[in-house]
Amino acid sequence: MDEELLRGLGLDEIILKSENRLRIHEELTRKVEECKRCRLYLRRTRVVVWDGSPFAPIMAVGEAPGRDEDLKGKPFVGRAGQLLTKLIKEAGLERSRDFYITNVLKCRPPNNRDPLPDEIKACSPYLEFQIRLIRPRVILCLGRYSSFYILGRTDNPPMKELRGRVHKTRYGIPGVCTYHPAAALRNPRLRDLILEDILRAKGVALGKSE
Ligand code: SF4
Repeated sequence: MDEELLRGLGLDEIILKSENRLRIHEELTRKVEECKRCRLYLRRTRVVVWDGSPFAPIMAVGEAPGRDEDLKGKPFVGRAGQLLTKLIKEAGLERSRDFYITNVLKCRPPNNRDPLPDEIKACSPYLEFQIRLIRPRVILCLGRYSSFYILGRTDNPPMKELRGRVHKTRYGIPGVCTYHPAAALRNPRLRDLILEDILRAKGVALGKSE
């Protein structure tokens, strides 16, 4: 674990003292609840830090909380989240056991607009911490902003160029990119492609493909 990153988040003591990942997440959530690093703290109802299992082999990273997530304090609990949960089940996996789910931003952007570069930069230490703590076997990037961040891409490629294969992420962990489930609510043809990518991530997690 990067000690500078931990100190920046004020989490060094808790990590040094605790091997308990649930306890660490309680502390992480407390830190995020105090966060005023960017303008998004002004309008949030609740912070949205994580869901699933802190021991999961697959880490799913979305973009930012929406309205339902902001109200409930959990990622992917609205209509897009329900579709994600359904597709995870169709892939033969369990959301609460096999997935650790989070977003690039921990607070909702107004009217669900896209995350801004300065917001991503301000919020990124939390995600960096989560990736280093969980060390998943594979990261499933849900949407373009998540994919760009996890892959370190600055050339804004379309999702059709990113999905359908396994990438090497900035963390040395394999990564699979796919459409955000909200896009499949607008365009149902994307549903099968997301399922295919979840199955691809499953294959990596099981060591069947790299
Ligand atoms: S989005 Fe992230 S950086 Fe901005 S206030 Fe929320 S937790 Fe802090």
